[in-house]
Amino acid sequence: MGDADDDRVTSREPGRDDRYRVPLRGVDVDPETRCAHWASPVDVVALRFGCCETYYPCASCHDAVAGHEAEPWPRDRFDEPAVLCGVCRETLTAREYLDGDDACPHCGAAFNPGCRRHRDRYFE
Ligand SMILES: [Zn+2]
Ligand SMILES: [Zn+2]
Ligand SMILES: [Zn+2]
Repeated sequence: MGDADDDRVTSREPGRDDRYRVPLRGVDVDPETRCAHWASPVDVVALRFGCCETYYPCASCHDAVAGHEAEPWPRDRFDEPAVLCGVCRETLTAREYLDGDDACPHCGAAFNPGCRRHRDRYFE
């Protein structure tokens, strides 16, 4: 990725990171949706929140840059796009992500399997 600091962008509500075609905000976000909090090679997903329908690389990003309380993605909308793969920038439905095997079904990029431990922060 070269010199990481140059391609990191912080966007705050009501702004958005204009490198992404979906609405997305976060702290020190790189071009593959790593952030100030999660920056390993496999931290390449952003998750959509029910409160603002906006994608964030993690819940700490939401806490830092959104001006409201975070709400997880609602269960009755699990068939709608709710996860962004930062590598190919395709979206997954919540169900595709949760039922998948920690890899992007579009490009094969590996996702952080540890995210499952925090699933209640992101999915109802
Ligand atoms: Zn929100
Ligand atoms: Zn973050
Ligand atoms: Zn992908």
